[in-house]
Amino acid sequence: MPISEQRGRRPSPSGAAVASPVHSRLTVLSGPSGVGKSTVVAELSRTCPQIWISVSATTRRPRPGEVDGRQYHFVDDDEFDRLIASGALLEWARFAGNRYGTPREPLDAKLEAGVACLLEIDLAGARQVKRVVPDARLVFLAPPSWEELVRRLTGRGTEPAEVLERRLAVARDELAAADEFEVTLVNTSVQDVCRQLVALIEDCDDRSLNFALPVRKAERGRHSGPPGRRRHHQPADRRAP
Ligand code: 5GP
Repeated sequence: MPISEQRGRRPSPSGAAVASPVHSRLTVLSGPSGVGKSTVVAELSRTCPQIWISVSATTRRPRPGEVDGRQYHFVDDDEFDRLIASGALLEWARFAGNRYGTPREPLDAKLEAGVACLLEIDLAGARQVKRVVPDARLVFLAPPSWEELVRRLTGRGTEPAEVLERRLAVARDELAAADEFEVTLVNTSVQDVCRQLVALIEDCDDRSLNFALPVRKAERGRHSGPPGRRRHHQPADRRAP
């Protein structure tokens, strides 16, 4: 069953969907390239196997150490064209000269089974998901500062200079889009961001998911209201007294 129907809504001819009161189990993590999304997702996958993490298709070449089917499904341009034409992608976007997209079918199956799901995608993709799954929770991962983001992007050392330039230009635009997101998490520490993400996902799920990652009660208790309703969600020990 397509995701849009599963939540009791049908896309209109314009592609917009009618909202329903059903809580989404779909969380979308977005933010500029180099901010550390994939590190956060890797840590989450290690510590919280209950959260299903979508594996995207991409036309980008694998980086050293990347394995087909694990970080991405690495496909050529023709295959990506076929995926688009057959409607196999929930969303897709061009990023720094390559295409990336979310396979629809495995995500549908997990959502239908009531599993909490996470997409790690770029801003254009996050906007598309919000259109077809309006109750998806959009989380923006921000760097502690612009200088830190540049340091992280250049420090990776895996990209040619012109690719890096394009990624920095995109990152500048993406940072400006943080306000479109329901929640912003500042990536000061991978552990903290994972804990906050788990708290958000638990917040929108009816059941306790029994995550392996401890969410300290004292820390959560200090917040007023559930984490999803705060904008800049900072760890309690990093906020001003
Ligand atoms: P990278 O090449 O560094 O792995 O990823 C480049 C960008 O593509 C990142 O911002 C990442 O979040 C985004 N991305 C990864 N998978 C997808 C996807 O399925 N859809 C979209 N729209 N963006 C994606």
